[in-house]
Amino acid sequence: MKKTKIIATVWPATESEENLVKMYNAGVNIVRFNFSHATFDGARPIADRIKKLNSEGKTNLSLLLDTKGPEIRTGIVENKINLVAGNTVKIVVDASKRWVEDIYCDYEYLLEDIKVGETIIIDSGLCNVKVLEIHGDYLIGEVLNSCVIGSKRHINLPWVRLKLPGITDKDKEDVLFAIENNYDFIAMSFVRNKENIAELRELLAENNASHIKIISKVENQEAIENLEEIVMHSDGVMVARGDLGIEVPIEKLPFYQKEIANLCLKNGKFFIIATHLLETMIENPFPTRAEVSDIYNSVIASADCTMLSGETTTGKYPIEAITMMSKVIIETEKSIQNPHNNFCNEGLNSRDIEKKALIRHSISIAEELDAKAIIILTKTGLLARLAAAFRPNIDVYAFTKNDTSVNYMNILYAIKPLLLPNWTNDYLSNVENAIATLKSKGLLSSQDKIIAVTDIQKDGNEFPIIEIIEVK
Ligand code: PGA
Ligand code: MN
Repeated sequence: MKKTKIIATVWPATESEENLVKMYNAGVNIVRFNFSHATFDGARPIADRIKKLNSEGKTNLSLLLDTKGPEIRTGIVENKINLVAGNTVKIVVDASKRWVEDIYCDYEYLLEDIKVGETIIIDSGLCNVKVLEIHGDYLIGEVLNSCVIGSKRHINLPWVRLKLPGITDKDKEDVLFAIENNYDFIAMSFVRNKENIAELRELLAENNASHIKIISKVENQEAIENLEEIVMHSDGVMVARGDLGIEVPIEKLPFYQKEIANLCLKNGKFFIIATHLLETMIENPFPTRAEVSDIYNSVIASADCTMLSGETTTGKYPIEAITMMSKVIIETEKSIQNPHNNFCNEGLNSRDIEKKALIRHSISIAEELDAKAIIILTKTGLLARLAAAFRPNIDVYAFTKNDTSVNYMNILYAIKPLLLPNWTNDYLSNVENAIATLKSKGLLSSQDKIIAVTDIQKDGNEFPIIEIIEVK
């Protein structure tokens, strides 16, 4: 069993019941819906299908909604605009003032926010325009490379502190859809600061959905500048290399990936490495050497998850891509001996800190005694998060009494979440049940040594304890 989890984006290549089961069997833990493109009518039946498969025990997949986020685009054009390197181009922010050869930019503060000498990136770097003159209702730029611009192309302004809302009206509607349809994670696109995250947290709280975990996508310069606060205020972080590779000089991308990983490990937050891990498998049945190395390095970097995007949506080889990713992960994990580095206590109350100490030492004990597994009993999944953050080298089975916690724990490194049938307040019977469940699945056998971590009831209070058990 692999410890590093896989997020795969669905649809259209992967929406059928058959393919969802295949995706799960090939190693997917979380299904991502990309709401830059998805529609409610398209997403709803797929989410329902996954929940049905989960309830039938055919899959154990969590749901992630990825927002579109605030973004800047060009306008709709009847004929594509031809730009020639060395020529100048006029860019306007008022669509009514646009001539056929001009480019419209839907960021209304462009002319006040941008400076002469800065570059406007259009269509993911396909076209770059250097600002020469700024006027009342337009600017003049030099075209740096010849290109053709169609309708609604992405614009990046890496040097500008954008005056855009944290959550757009569309994002809000999409988040409400996620709540209604029992999604487990929201990946927030183009997060810029902690206030953006607070805004989403408030929206979730107002709708009784504080259990939904927030993943901040680090994908622009401003997020890099505010990295520490973003990591601290998020439940998890995504290294969104697609956009980040446009917004920052691409040669700095590996450095930022490392920096995000370090900060997440230091703060005990889960993190995801995303985009282009197997990009060429969209067209080809076999990856490049560089892609395989990229997955290896993501696992070595201690990522909780690696992610697939186009590979499993429009790709020709979705299941092959997942299988390849799993194979590389499993092979890489064989060579890893994680140290169990400590992480900071920020956001933990005094009881959580006790649990953290206990789980840390239970991992050391389990490894020292060469135990088969660690069993934890957790209601909210907090204990599992703490365990994952210490990067255990042995399997951790996390039993809980609700689906929400199972779905959350699916994203965490090395955690195998399971629903405990007939959860009671009696610690002994819960542990017995947990062991019986693992035995019935063939995951434990008699004489195996395991470490159990849970709470016991004493004088009306709960106390966390560790127990060393030999399976009967
Ligand atoms: P996207 O985000 O696929 O929604 O753009 C991920 C990335 O930018 O890498
Ligand atoms: Mn992106």
